[in-house]
Amino acid sequence: MVAVLPVSAHLNYGPMRMLLYEVAPGLTVGSAILAGDLHGVYDLLHDTIVIDRTMTYTRKRCTLVHELVHHAYGDRGHQREHRCRIVTARLLIDEQEYASAETMYEG
Ligand SMILES: [Zn+2]
Repeated sequence: MVAVLPVSAHLNYGPMRMLLYEVAPGLTVGSAILAGDLHGVYDLLHDTIVIDRTMTYTRKRCTLVHELVHHAYGDRGHQREHRCRIVTARLLIDEQEYASAETMYEG
């Protein structure tokens, strides 16, 4: 089963956050300086995602997609992390572009 996100995983971070206000009004997305190497977190109880504000926009985008996958599955925090990482990678990486790059750079 593929997670259905409320927004396209291919949007940039800012537009993705803006669109979430419209299409997922019950979901709160905020940012903060998170402890250690934690990039983001999803809190099921409060339907809230927090993204580490010290990262680049590209990393914030990837982290937000990761947390949206947890949101889509109703995970508690980073529950079922392995599945979440596989689904997130499939949403962010185009399979044919990846295969092309693999051929171009000999695997
Ligand atoms: Zn996770």
